[in-house]
Amino acid sequence: AKEKGKNNYQFYTPDLDKLSMRKMELEKGLRKALAQNEFVLHYQPQVEVETGIIVGIEALIRWEHPKLGMIPPGEFIPLAEETGLIVQMGKWVLRTASEQNKKWQDEGIPPVPVAVNVSVRQIQDDGLIHDVKQILEQTGLEPRYLELEITESIMQNIERSTVILNQLKDLGVLLSLDDFGKGYSSLSYLKHLPIDIIKIDKSFIDDILELYSPGSIAKAIIDMGQNMNFTVIAEGIEKEEQVKFLLENSCKIGQGYYFSKPVPADKISDILQRRFQE
Ligand code: C2E
Ligand code: CA
Ligand code: CA
Ligand code: CA
Repeated sequence: AKEKGKNNYQFYTPDLDKLSMRKMELEKGLRKALAQNEFVLHYQPQVEVETGIIVGIEALIRWEHPKLGMIPPGEFIPLAEETGLIVQMGKWVLRTASEQNKKWQDEGIPPVPVAVNVSVRQIQDDGLIHDVKQILEQTGLEPRYLELEITESIMQNIERSTVILNQLKDLGVLLSLDDFGKGYSSLSYLKHLPIDIIKIDKSFIDDILELYSPGSIAKAIIDMGQNMNFTVIAEGIEKEEQVKFLLENSCKIGQGYYFSKPVPADKISDILQRRFQE
């Protein structure tokens, strides 16, 4: 900005040079990784708490770097978003998760929806509707077995997001709002968007273990979700006490390490085959 004037040397300090070099390095790595198939999907079950029946799975991307080993998404998704590579990467995730889910169904494994995380950059990209439609057609997966997880960041451009979400809904896929409550956005939009599921952000699930009015926000979200006919999923369930809270407060579905960590495809297909989370 103007007021910083000529004294703003921050872009020329050696530290930032190093940082941007590393980012460029990583970005190059990301492009290569896409071309050379270094990404894999892990899957985490979503469980009906009362029965232990698995009612869905979430696909979570992993980067198996040939030298650095497994790199968690927290380290490369932000960069992929910044560089726009997320659009291509996200398309790969959509296709792979859909193909995989269809294959399991063809093998006679009890069918469940697979949830895929969709970045706001993908919503902004003109190709998304076409891509989802084409992936459903080419894989033969029924749309009700594909769920798209979006976050409240789509509210940055509410007009466009509303149009895109309605088009996605018309394709027949499920839509869920991830990290719900974290984005501090106005609640009024909820009435106007074709959302099926809200996922209570982990921070409010952690809060169930606190001493001071434990779980009060989770409770409010569960009530609101019920009143508005959303399916409510609690994410980040780690402890028995949190499961008890869900049962007592009629939140039917949970996801978290308590039930299972995200696992590779062959492992989740075994779990799905058994239908119950042990
Ligand atoms: P998210 O969508 O909120 O996914 C939940 C994250 O919490 C996952 O981390 C999951 O492994 C982790 N988690 C699940 N249960 C528990 C639990 O009980 N305790 C704790 N501490 N953590 C739990 P992960 O796989 O590292 O992914 C981090 C984030 O990266 C995701 O958060 C999502 O925002 C993003 N991400 C992952 N895969 C994709 C993808 O394919 N596309 C996009 N756009 N983003 C993705
Ligand atoms: Ca998610
Ligand atoms: Ca989440
Ligand atoms: Ca998150």
